[in-house]
Amino acid sequence: MTNANSPKLSTSLDQGVPPRVRFCPSPTGNPHVGLVRTALFNWAFARHNGGTMVFRIEDTDAARDSEESYNQLLDSMRWLGLDWDEGPTAFDSASGAGGGPHAPYRQSQRMDIYKDVAQKLMAGGYAYECFCTALELEVRRDAARAAGKPSGYDGTCRNLSADRIERYKAEGREAIVRFRMPDEPITFTDLVRGELTFNPDNVPDYGIIRANGAPLYTLVNPVDDALMEITHVLRGEDLLSSTPRQIALYKALIELGIAKEIPQFGHLPYVMGEGNKKLSKRDPEASLNLYRERGFLPQGLLNYLSLLGWSIAEDRDIFSIEEMVAAFDVKDVNANPARFDLKKCEHINAEHLRMLSVDEFIAACEPWLKAPYANWKPESFDRAAFEAIAPHAQTRVTVLSDITANVDFLFLDEPVEDEASWAKAMKGEPVPLLTTARAKLEAADWTSPESLKEAVLAAGEEHGLKLGKAQAPVRVAVTGRTVGLPLFESLEILGKEKTLARIDAALAKLTA
Ligand code: GLU
Repeated sequence: MTNANSPKLSTSLDQGVPPRVRFCPSPTGNPHVGLVRTALFNWAFARHNGGTMVFRIEDTDAARDSEESYNQLLDSMRWLGLDWDEGPTAFDSASGAGGGPHAPYRQSQRMDIYKDVAQKLMAGGYAYECFCTALELEVRRDAARAAGKPSGYDGTCRNLSADRIERYKAEGREAIVRFRMPDEPITFTDLVRGELTFNPDNVPDYGIIRANGAPLYTLVNPVDDALMEITHVLRGEDLLSSTPRQIALYKALIELGIAKEIPQFGHLPYVMGEGNKKLSKRDPEASLNLYRERGFLPQGLLNYLSLLGWSIAEDRDIFSIEEMVAAFDVKDVNANPARFDLKKCEHINAEHLRMLSVDEFIAACEPWLKAPYANWKPESFDRAAFEAIAPHAQTRVTVLSDITANVDFLFLDEPVEDEASWAKAMKGEPVPLLTTARAKLEAADWTSPESLKEAVLAAGEEHGLKLGKAQAPVRVAVTGRTVGLPLFESLEILGKEKTLARIDAALAKLTA
């Protein structure tokens, strides 16, 4: 790089100094998967390099931020197990306080700092008051566009005389504070994208303080990164356009003695959703809460999200978070947009469910065996029966919430009434088959699923039906559904008495 304006980026890592990274969401709305991917990559980078994960809350927009969203962010990070070293509260909520050497970590509590920095920037000539009204800006922007010229801020207030400023103030004009961008291009090496150059025409002077005195993201984010000594900024590609501005601001902060060095930047690829459109936080499949409610395991979800722009090795999709940490290098992140594939996400989660011990699986199922998910009376739950069926469920469910419908036949007084299943399984002449199956099941040995299978097989043979066709009416009579866990194991666990009673009830219904 020969450009005089090429910034010197942090080299701390190359010199063996552990990196300091940050995850700095704004508490607006529900946490979404794109945000989690950013948190995950920062966290994995910090943990791989023995660095520090700073959790900062960017809540300077009182109109959009909410306490509820803030609490959800903490809760989500804790559920995912993405621990932080410095933050507004401790990762381990039981240990209380939290904090760190650069507290407070909520920007709403740091307003005096920003005011002070803005004043220093103005005093040093790095920023200036801009009195242009919205209407004036619009008129000039339109004219520039019509003339095919750059339409960003045109620098009208860059060099106002003291007189002019006095006059504007006397007129009652309001001023925002703008940062003065250098007139040369800015080049930097992105950790993901390589060398990038931004021309001054495309990066005009930008606002850092609103007319009402409120500091903007453009100021508070780099100021905090500087004061918190962040060495690496890993964030979404949508923020790439703010990077040349921040680099210019950083240089001013270094000259003012506020910042020590400029962090390195790595912009993570866009995540695309359905129809190759950017996944928006408003898309339902983007909501982290949805994944929690459906019963994704944190390790399954994190495994999938890590593949959005990164891979551990060719042909390898399933790995643990420890393996990810051991292998993660931001230099391996791919700059191309990543596609969010729900089916693959589910598949990976299912693989993680299979990797649990049976006891872990049973414990993980717990929330879905209770209200509001369970459709049976709490006192009807039979733990021994659940533990007996759990190994069969563990190899078949995709998400934990699948468990409820797969085991409810064990705990309901009567199987669920599913019209579609009934219609499908009971078409033709199910009565003779069910009658024979009932008789053979009654005579079977109930200590083995094999014997129950032979009973239904033999009943089918008598009526010219293969096993699949013969077991469908039995399954629906007993469980209410055409699909479920292995039938003969299910019958054995439910028990002879209940199984026969349910076949009797189905026969009564069919012959009524
Ligand atoms: N609070 C910003 C956001 O949520 C952070 C951007 C950044 O990482 O610099 O978009």
